[in-house]
Formats: sequence, C-alpha cells, structure tokens
Amino acid sequence: MTLFGAENAWEETEQGFAAWYAAYPRKRERADALRAYRAAIRAGRTAEQLGQARDAYVAELRASGTEAAFIVYPAGFLRRKLDDYLHVEAPVKKVKAGPVCRDHPDERCFYSPGSGWIHAR
Ligand SMILES: [Zn+2]
Repeated sequence: MTLFGAENAWEETEQGFAAWYAAYPRKRERADALRAYRAAIRAGRTAEQLGQARDAYVAELRASGTEAAFIVYPAGFLRRKLDDYLHVEAPVKKVKAGPVCRDHPDERCFYSPGSGWIHAR
C-alpha cells in the first residue's frame, strides 16, 4: 500500500467513525471511542458490521427502556459488547418499535422511561 493509500484508509476510517458515533446514543470519550473503532476495523470488522451492531444495541435499548446512565460508553461497546450484537438475528423483529422521536424521526433516538428522550444527535 502506498503512503497515499494508507492516508486515504486512515481518513476513511475517521469518516466512518464520525458517522458511527453520530448515531450512537451516548456521546462520551470520543477520542477513546475512535481508538476502539480503529482497533475493530484493524481486527477485520467492517463499517457496516459496526453500524449493524450499534443498531441492534439501540433496538435493545429502545425495547428495554434503558436509562441513559446505563448505556455503555461507545468505546466500551466497541471493545466489550460488539460480539454480542454482531450476530443478533433480526433484532427488530423481536422488539417492539417504541415511540418515534418527533424531532428526528429517521434517527436512532429512543425514549427511556427513566431518562426521557435520548437523542441520537
Ligand atoms: Zn431525537
């Protein structure tokens, strides 16, 4: 790989992370999350897989009405919980959809009875 190619890949991962992080329901310790994201990509995960795992986790949070304080930090999700959600079969079918955010109907916001609305952006 040329240096230029390596830099492109680096930047692509940065952009992939930004999109992943933007839709993660708890925004904490971004720099650490980026390190964990890069590590996951280096370990062979694709951006699509990481997005699917995040979405499966959000679907579970929605269904369970998890309080904001119990949503794992993004870095922790990527390091410890990724495998639990990578191979979840059709998570959307198993959970009830829950209310849709009025402000961001197409985003992954969800309502937590304990914490109120947890917005994805
Ligand atoms: Zn929202």
